[in-house]
Amino acid sequence: MRQHEPLGRPPVQVPGCEGCAELAVRRDEARARYDRSAETDANVLLRQHQRRDHATGAPGPARTRRVFRYVPYVIAQDQSAEPEYEARCVSGDETECGAESGVRHDPAAVEEWQRWHTQETRHFRYRRSFGDYSVLEPLEEVPG
Ligand SMILES: [Zn+2]
Ligand SMILES: [Zn+2]
Repeated sequence: MRQHEPLGRPPVQVPGCEGCAELAVRRDEARARYDRSAETDANVLLRQHQRRDHATGAPGPARTRRVFRYVPYVIAQDQSAEPEYEARCVSGDETECGAESGVRHDPAAVEEWQRWHTQETRHFRYRRSFGDYSVLEPLEEVPG
């Protein structure tokens, strides 16, 4: 399910660096909710941070000398909570309509609401949003 960035490779977090880890989490969360602009923002911040804090002047991956144990996590969708889909009508010249589908657990239900609303109002433009819950799970058991 991994999507490739069209422009260059996304920066890779440096193991053991909290700054990288935080931004990588932000990026993964953005990716999980299909928020491409937030994902790009996180990549930009991650590149800036790495230029500032991991500048080695040498080619190849940057290294950090900080030594504390870093536990790698996988970010997975929380299966105990249903994803949420929603749409809001943003049609209108001066002020937007603002009608909302309400939170649905099925994207088809949101589309159905959009078709109904468009039929009623001839409004054609909607902002859709998607939310879900994710959990971080350690890749390995921490000994002792
Ligand atoms: Zn870093
Ligand atoms: Zn409307």
